[in-house]
Amino acid sequence: MLVQHDDSDFTDFALTSSEGKINDLTFGKCFDCGKERSNVGWCKDCEINAFKENFKNWTSGNPNIDDFIKHTQLNANGNVDYLEYVDFEKFDLIENTKKGGAFSIIYSAIWLEGPRWIWDEDAEQWTRNGPMKVALKRLNNSQSMSEEFLKQVCYCFFFCLRI
Ligand SMILES: [Zn+2]
Repeated sequence: MLVQHDDSDFTDFALTSSEGKINDLTFGKCFDCGKERSNVGWCKDCEINAFKENFKNWTSGNPNIDDFIKHTQLNANGNVDYLEYVDFEKFDLIENTKKGGAFSIIYSAIWLEGPRWIWDEDAEQWTRNGPMKVALKRLNNSQSMSEEFLKQVCYCFFFCLRI
């Protein structure tokens, strides 16, 4: 539902979502399959198919983490609400920030490819941002990450998306 509030000096728009669908707004048809897009530049069917195609090209080495990342990709409703596995080789200029705690170390780094945040109007697809400064957190004993810890990570991820 598109809700419009009229005030004396300005007009404010608020979007409310019903069953994951934003009514009264259209995002155009997908260049590839011709279906209506579900979000700005986002054809859920085509994006999910592309994610599935790419599943064979990456693994974190931990099946539980892989399943979690895949779950976020298969349920993504836009270009910023999913996770992706990034191989360590894709980072450069990695420096220890001397921050962290008893259970982790935080590094700064440059993610060479960057996230898929740029909408290429001509190609009608998302392209990567290019080099971007990021923080990497190294968890001690992360090779033996418990299911309980992963559940907390999942909870935090989905909670953050709802804010
Ligand atoms: Zn499509």
